[in-house]
Formats: sequence, C-alpha cells, structure tokens
Amino acid sequence: MASSSSSTRRLPNESKMVLCDYCTEEQLEALKSCLNCGVSFCHTHLIPHKTTAKLKNHKLIDPVENLEEYICQKHATPLELFCRDDQMCVCNFCTKGDHKTHNTVPIEEETRVKKSQLGETQADIQKMIQTRQKKIQELKSSVELSKVSLIINTI
Ligand SMILES: [Zn+2]
Ligand SMILES: [Zn+2]
Ligand SMILES: [Zn+2]
Ligand SMILES: [Zn+2]
Repeated sequence: MASSSSSTRRLPNESKMVLCDYCTEEQLEALKSCLNCGVSFCHTHLIPHKTTAKLKNHKLIDPVENLEEYICQKHATPLELFCRDDQMCVCNFCTKGDHKTHNTVPIEEETRVKKSQLGETQADIQKMIQTRQKKIQELKSSVELSKVSLIINTI
C-alpha cells in the first residue's frame, strides 16, 4: 500500500500514440500506417495515398508502432493473408512460394472467424449458467414441495 497517486494516472493498457514518420518539425499523430511504404502518416502526409493513383493500391491499416510485424520480412510486402497450416501471417508472394499448397485465408477473414468462435464460447457459457440456474430453481421447488408433502403427511 505505497503511494499510488503517480501510477494510477496512466491506464495500463493505454495504447501508445503512433506518430507520423514524415513530419519533421512537430510530429503529429499518425492517422494510418502504410504496409507498402512501411511508414505511418498524419492527415496531411496521408493525402498523396488518397489522391495518387499509384499509391491508392497501397495497403493502409490503423496506425501501429510495430509496423514491421505487419510486413513480410522475406518479400517486404504486406502480410495480408493467414496460413492456417502454419498458424502464421503470410504475404501474397508467400502463397505462391513456400505456402503454395497451404490453406491461406485473408487476415480479415481469420480474425472474423476467431471473433465468432469467441462469441460462441461465450454463448455456451451463458447457456451453461442458465441451465445451472434452472436446475437450482428446480431443486429449490422440489425441496419446497417435499416440505409441503411432509406437512401434509404429518397432518
Ligand atoms: Zn505528417
Ligand atoms: Zn504507401
Ligand atoms: Zn512473403
Ligand atoms: Zn503455410
């Protein structure tokens, strides 16, 4: 129970702000990270990615600090797919090479499946709790009933 005034101010899981890599003077908060460029952009520096045809194909994601984790180290290309055989993220080139015969799905698809699976387990738990509560209720009423019958019998 030491003085916790300093530690309570900051939330433990507060995500760190990602800064624009292109800002020179005062670094602004990044709006998006580009997987093709491997760079994070603020609102102003993101504009070319929205207007230039060549840059429009670039894969933009919500700003992340560890951008290299989203880029294939082998091909320097965005990791857009998930290999179910290896349980790892792969890029388009990977699926044509090492993972040619593997079962790969878009990352979005994989996260969606994972989320729905999580939802299922939560629903299962909810159901389990409900059945248990029902059982308890039944048990209670049967106890009540036996009490009643006991009274009836003693009369
Ligand atoms: Zn900037
Ligand atoms: Zn880019
Ligand atoms: Zn790759
Ligand atoms: Zn694979």
